[in-house]
Order: sequence, then C-alpha cells, then structure tokens
Amino acid sequence: MEKVTLNLTGLGCANCAAKIESRSKSLAGADNVVLDFSRSRLTFESKGDADATIQAIKQIVLDLEPDVVVSVAGAPAETKATSQNSGLSHWIHDKKEVARLFSSLALFLIGIIIGSDSTIALPFFLVAYLLSGYKVLHKSFRNIRRGEIFDENFLMSLATFGAIAIGEYPEAVAVMIFYEIGEYFQDLAVNRSKRAISSLMDIRPDQATVLRNGFWMSVSPESVSLGETLMVKPGERVPLDGIIIEGSSSIDTSALTGESVPRFITKGDDVLSGSVILSGVVQVKATSIYSESTVARILSLVENATANKAPTENFITKFARYYTPAVVLFALGLVLVPSLLFGFDQFNTWLYRGLIFLVISCPCALVVSVPLGFFSGIGNASKHGILVKGSNYLEALSQIDTVVFDKTGTLTKGKFKVHEIYVANDSIDRGQLSKLAAIAESHSNHPIAKSILDYTGDYDRSVSLNKIEEVSGKGVIVETSLGKIIAGNLSLMNENHIDVMPINSPHTQVHIALDSKYQGTFEVRDEIKADAFETVAALHSSQIEVHMLTGDRKEAAVSVSAELGIDKVSSELLPENKYEIVDALIRSGKNVGFVGDGINDAPVLALASVGISMGAIGSDAAIEASDVVLMTDEPSKIIEAIAISKKTKSVVTQNIVFALGAKLLIMALGTVGLSSMWMAIFADVGVALIAVLNSTRVLGFKPPSVAK
Ligand code: ADP
Ligand code: MG
Repeated sequence: MEKVTLNLTGLGCANCAAKIESRSKSLAGADNVVLDFSRSRLTFESKGDADATIQAIKQIVLDLEPDVVVSVAGAPAETKATSQNSGLSHWIHDKKEVARLFSSLALFLIGIIIGSDSTIALPFFLVAYLLSGYKVLHKSFRNIRRGEIFDENFLMSLATFGAIAIGEYPEAVAVMIFYEIGEYFQDLAVNRSKRAISSLMDIRPDQATVLRNGFWMSVSPESVSLGETLMVKPGERVPLDGIIIEGSSSIDTSALTGESVPRFITKGDDVLSGSVILSGVVQVKATSIYSESTVARILSLVENATANKAPTENFITKFARYYTPAVVLFALGLVLVPSLLFGFDQFNTWLYRGLIFLVISCPCALVVSVPLGFFSGIGNASKHGILVKGSNYLEALSQIDTVVFDKTGTLTKGKFKVHEIYVANDSIDRGQLSKLAAIAESHSNHPIAKSILDYTGDYDRSVSLNKIEEVSGKGVIVETSLGKIIAGNLSLMNENHIDVMPINSPHTQVHIALDSKYQGTFEVRDEIKADAFETVAALHSSQIEVHMLTGDRKEAAVSVSAELGIDKVSSELLPENKYEIVDALIRSGKNVGFVGDGINDAPVLALASVGISMGAIGSDAAIEASDVVLMTDEPSKIIEAIAISKKTKSVVTQNIVFALGAKLLIMALGTVGLSSMWMAIFADVGVALIAVLNSTRVLGFKPPSVAK
C-alpha cells in the first residue's frame, strides 16, 4: 500500500480540518486518513488509484476551505522552495488582511463617535460590517448551500443578521470585526508555533558531498551507497551514519540526543547522521544507506507520531461534534420558549440572548489548542532526545504509576568486565578455561559474551564449530571438535545436569562445562549507571513505584536493587517470565512503563502501557516495539519524559477547563440577561487566543535535569 502525504498550505481553521478529515475518511480509496492540523498535512494509505483519491481530497478541500492549496509532499528541496514562496505570499496576504481589519475597525470607531443613534453613522457601520464580514458571509452562504448548518461562519452571520434585525448595529459590526481579528491572531499564533515545531524537527540533511572517481560531488543523501566516502565540513550535518576515516572535530548531537555539550570525535569513531560537525573537516565512510540511517528513522518516527491521537484529543473531537448543535438548539429554545409561554412582547430581548449563544457556539478554542498542545509536547520531547510515537503515549506517560526497569544495559551500563576466574579443579588451568569460554562466546552478541572475549582474546580458529545454540536469557551451547561446550548461568547448568561449585559473591557468574563436566566459572561485573540513583529517587518522589527485572542471578540483582533503593526485584527470569510479570501488573490495574534496551525484551516493550527503549537508535526491534525511544542510554531521560508529559497534560487540561468555563459563564449570564454580545465575542476570541498561546508554552518548557 502506498502512503501519500498532502500539504494543505494555508489551513488555519481547526474545525474545517476536522471536517476535511472525516470526509476524506469516507473515501473508498483511502485508508488510515490522518489530518495533522499542527503541520497542515494529510496522510493516507492509498488502495487502488492514488491520483483519483488525491483529486477527490482536493475537491473536498475546495468545498470546505477554498483558500487552502493542496500539494503532494515531495522531495525535501521541493518542499523548501514551496515553503519559501508561500512565505512571501503569506506576507502579502498578511498585509492585506491587516489593512482590511484595520480599516473596518476605523470605520466602526467613526460610527461610534458619530453616535450609534444617528443615521449618519449607519453607512459607516454598513461598510465596516461588509468589509470585515464579506469572507464570513461568503463562506457561510457557500456552506449553507451544502447543508452545513452548524458551520461557524453561518452561525456568525446569523448572529450578526439577528443583531441588525433588532437594530443593534454596533454590536453586529463588533461581533464581525472582533471575530475576524481573533481569527487573524489565532492563525498567526498557530502558524508561528507550527514553524517552531517543524524547525525543531528539521534534522534532514540537504545534501552529501561524496567522493566519486577522484572528485568531490554534491549529491542528495538518498543516492549515496554503502561504503562511499563523504566529506563533512564545519556547520554541516552528517548526512548518513558512518565511521570517521580522516580528520577529527567536535560534534554537536543535540538535535538527536538533547545533549548540548559537544563531543570530540576522531578517526575510528562512529558518527550518527543528523549530528552537526563543529570544528574540523572530517571524512566519513557511510555505514548505512540514507533510508536506514538514524535521521531517516527519527523522521519517520516523528512523522507518524500524529497518527496516534491522545484520548483527550479524541474526546475533544467528539465533544466538538455535539457542542455546536447543542448550543444552537439551546439558543433556539431561549428565543422561542419564553415568548410562547409569556407572549411575544419580550421577543427582542430573548432573541438578543439567543444570539449571544450563537456567538460562542464554536468550540474553536479547544479544537485548535488541544492538538497543538500535544504536538508541542512531542516537539519539546524530541528536542530533549526523547522520541514519542504519538500523543496517546505522551498522555499515557503522565499517568504512569509503576516503572519497571530491565537491569542489564538499562540501570547498569551493560559493559561487563571479567573480575575473577575460578577453575573447577587442579586438572584444568586458567588458560584452558579461557580457551573454552572464548570458543563458546565467540558467536554471541550478549554483553557478557563480549566481556569474556575482551578478557580471553579471540578464539582458537583451529577448533571447528559444528553447532551453535544461544539459549535466550541463559547462555550458549556449542558443539565443537573439542566436545560440547556449555557457557551460561546456573539454570542452564542445572538443565544439563552439571554440578557447579558454589561461589559466594554478589556478581554475575558464567559457568563453563565441557562434555557435561563442570570446568570453572567466570565472574563478571557490571557497573550501575551514574544517573540511576537520582532516577529512582526522582520516581519515588513522584509516588511512582520502581521495579527491576533481570535474567541475572539473585545475588547480583539484590545487590544492585539494594544500592538503588528499588521497591521490588525479580531475578533469574527468562524473557517470557518478564512478560508474565508485566502482564500481571497491567492486569492488576497498574499503568506500567517498561524501560529496556531491546535485547530480548522487545515483547515486554510492546506489552507495557508505555514501552520505553533506550540508547536504542541502533536496534530496529527495540524501536519497532517501543512507544517512546530515548536517544541516549541515560535512565534519567524518563524523568524528563514524564515531566514533559505532565506539563503537556496540565496545559491541555487548563485549556479545556478555561475554555469551557468561560463559555458556560457567558451562557449562564446570557440566559439571565447579564451578558452582552460584546462580552460574548470578546470571550470567544480571547479564550481561543489565550488557549493557543497557553499551548505554545509547552514548547518552551524545560524539564528538570537530574543530577548525575
Ligand atoms: P537481563 O535480564 O539482565 O538483561 P538476560 O536475559 O540478557 O539478562 O540474560 C540473563 C542471564 O543469562 C545473564 O545474567 C547470564 O547469566 C546468562 N546469559 C545470557 N546470555 C549469555 C551468554 N552469551 N553467555 C553467558 N551467559 C549468558
Ligand atoms: Mg537484557
């Protein structure tokens, strides 16, 4: 299935956006239609004729928002060019808008000064009304012909017609002018934060300088193949993941990891695409193609994030659908019922009160500010090296009450070191034991295996390996020309009926056996990460329970968890046991965040309420399975992630309470005759603007940094 992205340039009305989305959803040729209002983009999966579907969507947009320009999202260069153009036309458009609103405001004020009772004032009011309102009137006329009676333009028109009908000319004009001024500022604020968010996420390299046939050529990153040599100069982004083969430089990885302190890299070091070279010119050998490089992965993650809407967002969309009809119905009741009951001599009074309702019948404040708040939260998180795959996960993060950590590689560095070797008896020496261990571990990727190989050196290649089996969470079994070697933990030894010499220590032990006979033990040690202590403490101070799971032996697990002050620890687990434990927690009603490194815990990542993988931008399985990806391997990032999610949630809640509260207040006052249309339009416009500005606060929020 082909995925299509359309840019909807100039889309300013969130309510219309929701309508465009719901109509496009009903198209047969499009699946998973998502309209991302924050970035003015619509994506869908095309079945069948993509062009026909695009045409159909263009028609829908033309019907609902004729000013919006629909274009198929293309190559980066293309989109840049169009955004520049639209920037220019925007500017001209803005100037015209300002002139229009300003002159209608001036005419209106002249009318007021002349005195609203004077007939000389009338032409001023009329021109001011038409000048400020012709767009609204035009749209409402067009939409009403399509049967959209709950269209906000139509309701504004109706409210102002009503006011004119009962002779409240200044109010009619004021409602129109301030409605348009409000829309203008709201557009401005929304566009500004949209730009801020997209520039935050703009880590796409424009071009790559590659060595071909002895010449340096400038090409698009997509066309570079594996193993080609690239040159990156100071100030440029590394276009593809690679390894430095020439030169050295300090490097800024902040766009990827949120880490603002530059690192120094030199020959032999890995560099991730998206990082910026700061000081020297370096040559990089590409170790990935563009589509598999870090930048492309991050971008595709972030691009898809808006598809997963938070429950609050969905609630607001649903709410908006009922709010307007309900308010309009109530307005109608307010106009008709008292008059029918008590006679029509007070009709104008009740009509006026009903019109107040129409003025505040658009849920725009909510429809715009809530998604914007979530998207700002996702943008902020990505600035801090935290990739959140959707608003739903951002919201879920704020509700976590239990964090379960995998031990190895998550709370500990996962960089083991051989600390001690024990031989089974005098008939075997350390050299022989090392040789067996090296053979067994040479084909495992486990960090323990690496540490043993670091110690023993490469294995003896004259020994032939016949069968290699890695037993997940236990160890390895290899059949060789020397015999069958087993290297692993106690449970693997027990399974194979091998007696092991007991060694009393709190560290990880790897036992070695040859042909079912115990040969000796490697004791390996891991170190706790520096920020793990503060992370556990900070979680505790937010009343979050901290658990630790590990496949390691009990002694090692208990020693780590005691040092960190962890609430609950389970050890000697197989990957499936970890799954069962997290499953049981979720069943008992907990909101569980599971933090792992993706090495054999991908199923648990997928199962948890929020699966968080760390330092895992290298591991496909972890990225695939998790909901939140921490770009560095610091557990303290989870504190930042939770802080950002809580901030987002609280701003969104503030907006909902504030916007609904203000509307309810005006409605209540309006019903008993204590509110005017003036108050209503200011409440409507002001609330929307304040809510939007409030949402943008999320973007600038600084999560507390955890001391390391
Ligand atoms: P964790 O839960 O701490 O991430 P794992 O599930 O990866 O640990 O592994 C659990 C245990 O299995 C390790 O502590 C180790 O004793 C044993 N083990 C796993 N792989 C190997 C290996 N390649 N060599 C030796 N022991 C291993
Ligand atoms: Mg692990």
